[in-house]
Amino acid sequence: MQGTTMTELADDELLRYARQILLNGWDMDAQLRLKAAHIVIVGAGGLGCPASETLARAGVGRITLIDDDMIEASNLQRQTLFVAADIGQSKAMRAAERLTEINPYIAAVGIKDRLSDDNAADLLDSGAGLPDLLLDCTDNFATRDSINRISLALKIPLLSASAIGMTGQLSLFEPAKQTGCYHCLFGAPSDDEDTRTCANSGVLASTTTVMGNLQANTALQYLGLGHNPLSGKLLLWDGRSMQQRMMNYKPDPACPVCHHSS
Ligand SMILES: [Zn+2]
Repeated sequence: MQGTTMTELADDELLRYARQILLNGWDMDAQLRLKAAHIVIVGAGGLGCPASETLARAGVGRITLIDDDMIEASNLQRQTLFVAADIGQSKAMRAAERLTEINPYIAAVGIKDRLSDDNAADLLDSGAGLPDLLLDCTDNFATRDSINRISLALKIPLLSASAIGMTGQLSLFEPAKQTGCYHCLFGAPSDDEDTRTCANSGVLASTTTVMGNLQANTALQYLGLGHNPLSGKLLLWDGRSMQQRMMNYKPDPACPVCHHSS
């Protein structure tokens, strides 16, 4: 935009990001790294809306959203990028439009599709190379397990969040550093537990918003400063008690998913 490159910011961008560039521990180089970054967000719902909005406002240069769902009335309680007039439209396309309205200095692209093993390489590399970070913002265990396998196969760092009821979890796996994977932590999807979703178990509006923004907070540090605050850690958030805990984990040497991927 306005003839700038990835190595400089226009005056309007400097003004827009002024409070962030002023921040102790953040600087122009960090802001430029954000501008050069490409992320893919899988799921433009309760987590994907707040995560993508914060990352767009903060200046992540290229954001791709993948979701094959349409906006429904029951989504409006927590899916913060949508309003009543959007019902019936594609979540991915509407979210991308809204992000571009919020920050015209970034490129936001919506893909109305469902990510799978078969289309992953094509959808994730839509002309701009593979992304720097993959954000899992989906709402069920089986899909998260599948995205974990895609992250390992393509060696893309995976920032995986989940939110249900009044609780949430967050982790950031780095395949290149063999930090372990989603499967090391949670095992294979079972018929009993993996059927719990927001649709059948309920979720408080604030749970997804908090977890989406904790996810954005982690992504900003990772993309801007090269720092993984969740290395070897699983963050657990409980909205009822207002407590947040960090659980340490190690890669599972017997993990059938990441053990053979290196
Ligand atoms: Zn593993």
